Order: sequence, then structure tokens, then C-alpha cells
Amino acid sequence: MEYYDYIVIGAGASGLSFAALMEKKGFKVAVLEAHTLPGGCSSYFDREGFTFDAGATTLSGMAKGRPLNNLIKELDLQLELVSIDPGIISIIGDQKISHHKNTNQWIAELSEKFPGIDHQSLWEKLKKIERRGWNLSTIFKNIPMRSARSLLPFFSLKLPGAVLAIPKFFTSVKSELEKYNIKDQNYLDMINELLFITAQSQMETTPLLMGAMGLCYPEDTFYAMGGMKAFSDALAAKCSHLFFKEQVKKIEALKKGKEGFSITTITGKVFHGKKLISTIPIWNHAEMFEDQKARDFFSAKKIHDPKDCWSAFMIYLTIPINTSRVGLYFQIHCPENQVIPNCSTKSFFVSLSHPEDKSRSIKGRQVVTISTHTKPAEWIGLDKEQYKLKKIETENYILRILKQKFQLGEEDLQNKLTGTPKTFIKYTKRSFGLVGGIPHSLNRNPMELIFAKSPYKNFYMLGDTQFPGQGIAAVVMGSMNLVDYLAE
Ligand SMILES: Cc1cc2nc3c(=O)[nH]c(=O)nc-3n(C[C@H](O)[C@H](O)[C@H](O)COP(=O)(O)OP(=O)(O)OC[C@H]3O[C@@H](n4cnc5c(N)ncnc54)[C@H](O)[C@@H]3O)c2cc1C
Repeated sequence: MEYYDYIVIGAGASGLSFAALMEKKGFKVAVLEAHTLPGGCSSYFDREGFTFDAGATTLSGMAKGRPLNNLIKELDLQLELVSIDPGIISIIGDQKISHHKNTNQWIAELSEKFPGIDHQSLWEKLKKIERRGWNLSTIFKNIPMRSARSLLPFFSLKLPGAVLAIPKFFTSVKSELEKYNIKDQNYLDMINELLFITAQSQMETTPLLMGAMGLCYPEDTFYAMGGMKAFSDALAAKCSHLFFKEQVKKIEALKKGKEGFSITTITGKVFHGKKLISTIPIWNHAEMFEDQKARDFFSAKKIHDPKDCWSAFMIYLTIPINTSRVGLYFQIHCPENQVIPNCSTKSFFVSLSHPEDKSRSIKGRQVVTISTHTKPAEWIGLDKEQYKLKKIETENYILRILKQKFQLGEEDLQNKLTGTPKTFIKYTKRSFGLVGGIPHSLNRNPMELIFAKSPYKNFYMLGDTQFPGQGIAAVVMGSMNLVDYLAE
């Protein structure tokens, strides 16, 4: 039996940032991770000499006062970060729309590509809402709320400005766009596909507040030299008690959590923690408890229906370095608005390693990670042959478009590998291979976002199915908020 102040389940961005910050405050923290590497959805793998980002590829929330900026400073993470401008390039038919970081440049780009729309007024409004959204998140540091003291920010002097963002939580992106009478289908598709990769929803259902934060995200896009390996390894290096290949199998709450938790892993080791922090998806928990109360808590309809959530189809490959290609991140739309076979979106996201990244862009080649949304039901339960044929169909469809848009020949594509929801189940253990968090939606009960619940005292949940936001910046913010709350 090993004794700790905190046991953290999962060494993804949320678990590592929580553990590293708590350790800095002097607590003894163990992180139990099922995989052999840190990072979870922002992890990496080596293949044929190249280092691939497994899921996430971009870092955002880097502006002053935002979560990753705060985390990097607080932990003194030694990262070489490169601001990528344009943050994203949307490729729709023959059009390339560059999301410049500078607002004026971005508006000029939109005015040229989509004339006749009042871009100035629309994007100034979106930016204002985005700023207020971030302000709100810094005032209400204890969202999810955990006690009465979480209500103190209501008395903050900064509140009146930020509070103006709250109504934007109850109106959709679509209803805002309708005010601008936008008819250009390419423009609407661009917005929709951007919302898909940020809010995980489309304009009809995405609340304007989260939509604005997602749509403005290309202004804050960074590449870490060394890729996600550099980011995840830097965080992992700050955690002295990080145990790999220790998948948690059983959780026992001692005196309902008042005396801590006894955690048993797949190797049979038992860890004891005064407090337990779980960063794995909410659906993963039920099977870990013998106690019926906790099983009921996690299996009941109270927790979000996984059918609304997404998994990802991935292609990893390398292509020849092309230093004349502007940008690293591309959202490529399918021709004639088609949906990708066996997937759910009309576009795919392409991330390249930085041409000057000496650890990843090697042998004259850039490493490429391609991702798009899919549902687990498309891939789970198939026989081997069906699974293989579906993978080939989706891979061929995406790569045909990639070759055309990037002007590549078949021989240029090397070191190819494909991932599906089954791959995410294998490497991240996430239920059904669901990744990217719970979609932001007007149909989601806002109370679910505000109150963090757990079945026991001293048991807290973090990560992208628990904290009300997606992406690394959001889960890191959730972890920092909990650190503030617990260390006060
Ligand atoms: C394809 C894709 C692209 C993305 N792109 C971006 C991007 O560019 N930028 C961005 O900011 N975000 C991006 N995201 C989202 C981002 O990666 C996630 O929101 C974030 O990394 C989630 O972190 P987490 O710590 O909550 O969960 P995870 O990363 O899932 O971490 C949970 C960890 O728990 C471990 N685990 C699971 N079960 C157990 C168990 N029983 N015992 C012990 N350990 C266990 C897992 O192995 C994993 O390491 C992307 C996600 C995907 C899938």
C-alpha cells in the first residue's frame, strides 16, 4: 500500500497539470496512467523514426491571463512555442481562407473572399463576446461550483462587464448569423466546420458564448517545437510519482471518502489517497466501483448520453517538406459539400509538423496528423474484413482530396497509419472511444455545466467530459480552478 495526499487517475493534460501544480504546493501526488506514455488525447507515438501527435496538435489559450499562459509560467515549462499565423486555413473548393491573427487582416481576408457581408460588425461582436467569456471564466474560478464559497465572485467588481456574456449562453450562433443575412453557403460551411472542431456542435445548437470562443480560437494558435511530445513530456517531468501501465480497476471509498480512497490497479498494486481526482471520462467510472451507490450515480441517466458525443477517424503520414506552403493547420472541406464516408463531417483537419522542427521534420519530410469526426457505432462490432474495408474507403477518400489540395503524388505519402474509435479505446481507454468532450449545445442543461457532482466527499472529477469546455486550454483551466479551490 502506498500513501498519498492525492491520487490522480489519468496522465492527460488535465491530470498532469493538476498533479504538477499540487506537487509544487508541497503535496504528495500519485498519477496512475494506463498507457506507457503521458498525454492521453494529446499524446504521441514513434513510428519508423517519426514522432506523430496522436490526437491534439495545436496549443491555444496562450494569450496573457489565459490558461496555458498561466500554466506554463506557473510551472516554468521549458517549451519553444511558435505562434502560427494564419492560425487555420480553411480550404473550400478553390478558395483558401486564411484566419489571420490580426483582426483587421482577418476582416480584410473575409471581405475579399465573401463580399457583401458586414464582417467588421460580426467579428467585432464575436471578439467582444469571446473576451467576456474568458473574463467570466477568470472571475468564476470555481465553475464547476463545489460549495457556497463558489458564489463569492457574484460580488466581484469586475462582474458587471463579464456578466453581459451570460445571455449569449442561451442564444445560438445561427440566430446571431441570421441578423447578417448571410447567404453564401461556403461561408456558412466554414463557420459550421470550425464550430465542429471547437464546440463539437453546429451553428443551430452551439450557444453563442462558446461559439464565439471557438470561432476566435485561430487567433491564438501555437505550435510547440517537438510537438505534443514536448508539451506532455514537460508536464510529466513535473510529476515525481507518475506510474505508467497502472490502469485503475477498482476504487473503494473508505467511510464514504471521509477516510480517503483505496485504489487497485491492473497490476494488483494498491494505492491509498486522502483525496481522489479522476480525469477519465464520466462513462468510465461505473465499472470501477463495487459500491452500488457509486455505480448508480455513474450509470444513471443523470450523466450525459454518450450517443451525442464524438469519436475521431485519424490518418497519420509523412509528406515531403514544403517551405513555401503557408500555415501548419488546414481545415479541408470535401467537394460538393459531401460527408466523408463512414464519418460525420464535411471536412477534415490537417496538421503539419513545423518545417524547422528538427526533432519531427526529419529526412526531408513533415509529419502529418489528419482527424475528422465519426461515431463509434460506425466501427465497433464489425468483423475484421468489414472493418478493414471501411478504413480503406475512408482513408482513400480523404487522401485523394489531400493529394489534390496539396498537389502531392501517391509516392509523396509515406509512413501511413489509420486510427478509429477502436484505436482510442485501446490507447486512451476512453469509453466507446469518445473524445473531444461533451458537445456544447443549447439542448444541454446549463446546471450540468455549473455544478460538479461526485458520489463521495474528497472525490473530484476533471477532464473534458466534466469541465464545461473542450480542448487542452479548457481542461487545464478546470485543473487550475480545482487546485485553487483545494489549496486555499
Ligand atoms: C483528434 C483530436 C484532436 C484534438 N485537437 C486538439 C487541439 O488541436 N487542441 C486542443 O487544445 N485540443 C484538442 N483536442 C482535445 C484535447 O486533446 C482533449 O480535450 C484533452 O487532451 C483531454 O485531456 P484530458 O486529460 O481531459 O483527457 P485524456 O487526454 O483522455 O486523458 C485521460 C488519461 O487517462 C488515462 N486512463 C483512462 N482510463 C484509465 C484508467 N482506468 N486508469 C488509469 N489511466 C486511465 C488515459 O490513458 C489518458 O492518458 C483534440 C482531441 C482529439 C481526439
